[in-house]
Amino acid sequence: MDKLELLQRVFGYPQFRPGQEELIDGVLSGRDVFGIMPTGGGKSMCYQIPALLLPGITLVISPLISLMRDQVMALKAAGISAAYINSTLNGAQIQAVYRNLLAGQYKIVYVAPERLDYAGFGNVAAKLSISFVAVDEAHCISQWGQDFRPSYLRIVNFIDSLPYRPVVGAFTATATKQVREDVERILRLRNPVRTVTGFDRPNLYFAVIQPERKDKVLHRLLAARKRKSGIIYCATRKSVETVCEDLRSRGYAATRYHAGLPEEERTANQEDFLYDRKTVMVATNAFGMGIDKSNVSFVIHYNMPKSIEAYYQEAGRAGRDGAEADCILLYSGADVYTARFLIDKSASENEEMDEAQREMVRKQDLARLDAMVSYCKTKTCLRGYILEYFGQKHLEICGNCGNCKDGFETVDITKESQMILSCVKRVHDRLGYWVGTGLICDVLRGSSMKRIRDSGLDGLSTYGLLKDRGRSEVRGMIDQLEAEGYLSTEQEHMTLRMTALAGQVLYEGKTVQMRVAVEPEEPAPVSGAVKPMEEDKELFESLKELRSKLAKDAGVPAYVVFSNATLVDMAKKKPKTMSQFRKVSGVGEIKAAWYGTAFLKQIQRFMDENQEEG
Ligand code: ADP
Ligand code: ZN
Repeated sequence: MDKLELLQRVFGYPQFRPGQEELIDGVLSGRDVFGIMPTGGGKSMCYQIPALLLPGITLVISPLISLMRDQVMALKAAGISAAYINSTLNGAQIQAVYRNLLAGQYKIVYVAPERLDYAGFGNVAAKLSISFVAVDEAHCISQWGQDFRPSYLRIVNFIDSLPYRPVVGAFTATATKQVREDVERILRLRNPVRTVTGFDRPNLYFAVIQPERKDKVLHRLLAARKRKSGIIYCATRKSVETVCEDLRSRGYAATRYHAGLPEEERTANQEDFLYDRKTVMVATNAFGMGIDKSNVSFVIHYNMPKSIEAYYQEAGRAGRDGAEADCILLYSGADVYTARFLIDKSASENEEMDEAQREMVRKQDLARLDAMVSYCKTKTCLRGYILEYFGQKHLEICGNCGNCKDGFETVDITKESQMILSCVKRVHDRLGYWVGTGLICDVLRGSSMKRIRDSGLDGLSTYGLLKDRGRSEVRGMIDQLEAEGYLSTEQEHMTLRMTALAGQVLYEGKTVQMRVAVEPEEPAPVSGAVKPMEEDKELFESLKELRSKLAKDAGVPAYVVFSNATLVDMAKKKPKTMSQFRKVSGVGEIKAAWYGTAFLKQIQRFMDENQEEG
């Protein structure tokens, strides 16, 4: 099999992303490589595909324990035998991995950098034929980077200790010049193939808000993002506790993560989030390193982080599957003091460095903080600011950030609100139970779905009242009514109910306003973002449900079954046969064999149910 066949048949992607092919070709031809790609750019493919094509073993060095576990799980799901070695395994488990390694059972093995120093590992490594050493998160080798790890300095010794030198590849998302030079020099890359792919993530929307009350704004932001998965980053453990508690008391499925929690709780909470049992993760920056959850649809910073590097990395955890996602920073002047305090504290506590190193790192950190504060204050394009910081060319106006979007206007939606509320009431009166937001939208928009005709909902006086409005517009108004307390969603069954307050709008003349984005005159620049068509959204939701069920049965996170981007493509293509199913982006042979029938059936059922007559 060649590299493209592998990409298509094993991983299910039709083509390479920018930079991937050059790096893979480099490794296959025996050259060292240095890949600089933004988070989510697809670095892992650049070592996984060579690993499958080269003889012998590929060693991936990564500091990120959860990433190792996730990737090994994902590789196994794609039918590839892989393993990891890190401190989460006990002695017997590690011995078992060593035995399998020596027996030639793995093509890819992930190891933590500390492990390279262990005699036991060294002895095993000396007996293996290692063709390729891939150093992930390679910026950790540089003390100019935001995440210096002294254990990375010893990777070179390890490579030198091998009977012969394998091909070496370095991969990072940090692009500053100094870090690049350090990586090449310290890792002693030999005339590497270098690629720097664009740092732009067109599917991410960036905004900075400087609110009077952060908690109020947070409630508003979350009310508009119900059922979506997101991370809220706070600067301190204490604010993680406060924010998480507050959200829970408001009925959000929130969990928390910070270094002060017992290991067990951290693991449990992280898994709740990964497996979509909890939709909101409130955390310090201790959370997320190596988290490969692809369906995170917003990242809100409750406090300003310490650097653009940190911000872009944390915000970049949104929308990894290419779907549209929001990165919103809530800024206040007090954040600057907290950040300064944390910088001083971490400089004085770092025992791995001597005094001079510490002082240098502190100065660097303060300079980075300045750049971060300027980001919060700039009136120019936010995306442009970030790209500029990483030395990349960019458009003057991106059209998809808080500063480029001309802003918002307030519109009166009292009339529409009355229609929505009375529709919720009438549907309930007719059926005798509450239903979900989706069905309410369908009734208001006059859908001729079978379910609606069969239950006589098309005879209601509110049927079709908002037929000239878009589905997301109607949903947006419902969200607004929920945010204001006139409607509420019952979390267990996700049904929409009217509250006692609704009467004020229905009978007492209370008005309702909503802030909506002013649509730009010109079409937004073409982006790689995935935007599901209105009519496919419902199918997408039903495929998501099936995915949850299959993931639960298999005991893996939902995105290991298929990413959101794959489900979006599936909902668009609506495959009828297995060979059509195989053409969906992200569907490889193994996954098609495991899940194909279930998804095809679901699509068929959906199409039958929603067939319009006439
Ligand atoms: P990084 O390590 O650079 O942050 P990943 O390697 O985790 O990014 O890739 C991010 C996502 O993109 C993953 O879901 C991955 O499967 C997907 N991906 C990688 N290569 C491609 C490709 N050529 N086409 C489509 N999706 C891809
Ligand atoms: Zn912009």
